[in-house]
Amino acid sequence: MRLLLATMSHETNTFSPVPTKLDRFCRDGTTLLSGQAAVDFYRGTGTCMGGYLAVANEIGAEVVVPVCASAPPSGPVDHEAYETFCRLILDAVAQGGFDGIWLDLHGAMVAERFDDGEGELLSRIRAIDPQTPLCVAYDMHANIFPAMVSNAQIVTGYQTYPHIDQRQTAERAARALLRVMRREVKPTSAWGSAPMLPHVMAQGTHQAPNKDLQALCASWEASGRALAASLFVGFPHADVEMAGLSAVVVTDNDPTEAQAMVDELISAAWTARRDFMFDIEPLEASVSRAKSMGAPGELPVVLLDHYDNCASGGTMDTTDTLREIIRQDLDDVVFFGIYDPDAVRQAVEAGVGATVTLSIGAKLPMPQLPVASAPLTVTGVVQTISSGSFRLKGGLTPGLQIYMGRTVVLDTGKVQIVLLSRHIEPTAQEMLQVLGIDPARKKYVAIKSRVHWRADLGKIAREIVECAGVGVCTSDYGQLTFRKVRRPVFPLDPELKWNQPA
Ligand SMILES: [Zn+2]
Repeated sequence: MRLLLATMSHETNTFSPVPTKLDRFCRDGTTLLSGQAAVDFYRGTGTCMGGYLAVANEIGAEVVVPVCASAPPSGPVDHEAYETFCRLILDAVAQGGFDGIWLDLHGAMVAERFDDGEGELLSRIRAIDPQTPLCVAYDMHANIFPAMVSNAQIVTGYQTYPHIDQRQTAERAARALLRVMRREVKPTSAWGSAPMLPHVMAQGTHQAPNKDLQALCASWEASGRALAASLFVGFPHADVEMAGLSAVVVTDNDPTEAQAMVDELISAAWTARRDFMFDIEPLEASVSRAKSMGAPGELPVVLLDHYDNCASGGTMDTTDTLREIIRQDLDDVVFFGIYDPDAVRQAVEAGVGATVTLSIGAKLPMPQLPVASAPLTVTGVVQTISSGSFRLKGGLTPGLQIYMGRTVVLDTGKVQIVLLSRHIEPTAQEMLQVLGIDPARKKYVAIKSRVHWRADLGKIAREIVECAGVGVCTSDYGQLTFRKVRRPVFPLDPELKWNQPA
């Protein structure tokens, strides 16, 4: 058996000023992975490609991997980069001789010329090869367009947020497609969407309503009622027509049942739409509340600087939450982090042990926001300089090699500020431990994260305080000008009445 495996993954925040060129898709900053190098990189990891490779290995299949392109979220994907990925995949498809095509796509990719990056790729594949069975594993944040479903036999989506089931999602797709390839089942899909943009901060599967919706999907797959059932909460910061919540269900030759399950999912989500909203507390009040909670010798209070999470397209260089933490004089804080390659370079030149005064952050203008951040001047001792390279043991993607890039810890006495030269979301304790910091022993752990931190850092949180700073993944939709998303849509149109499926 011969399989084509490929990754083309990007969650595009159309409000983000961070450019998305080809180099961002190089995991180590220099190399676009393909072939044996891609297999070696992903084999055994808790990623979609890790899942595909495990199933391929189990059945003794030969794999061809034309590209594994995966980048942290940012602005629309550069046209040349997008066409490069498509060409690599399409050239491989055109060679032919594959028994199956297994794809790892995010589902919320916006390319400069295509709002539906994944649907465009799939349509091009089908124009060359209309026959070979094809499956796709999507992120739960996929914004589903019709071509993303109609061009695949099997579609699966993550059923956890934080996404700790990436590997399993690909394995479910692969195993269902194997049944198609063996002609044991005849897949038929249904999909539908509800006109709603759930807030990311209210999408976690540690709580209702998403917890219950995902459990429903898993129960249908377990019982065999569905070959695959997925509820996509969508990614609201991709301002495209189909942004928002949708469901895709695949059954064995039963379109009526598939549609019934889709209708049940989107109807239940719509009924719970107000629970998918997030209430915002002013920043000053949040930090003050955190200050009253901190206690030495206990597990930390976690402060979430959630408007500026790079894993949702944030610049990761806004300073407002850090500034407020310093202004209110919190002590024993680690702040992860501020993206500022210039500041990193200056600290590295000064060397470990040197006292430096740096102007950090706010170097990337955010023209799509009505508010701006400002650089922050800090004085501290360069405590740590790290290459930022290590293999993750736990967290979201166990086994994956991480390249944080050159990383510095600047200690102001009360706050240890992590300065970064690449965009990386703090999700695991290991990311701090490699910098010589044990987060469990801090009074405060302040991070630019929204939900993914719960995968590992969540284990040590005594209290959680959400901080409304500044950033392009703002939780305040009122700060964003939506131009393309279908209207009316809840909660942009809060009084919307929608005739949900019975
Ligand atoms: Zn996601």
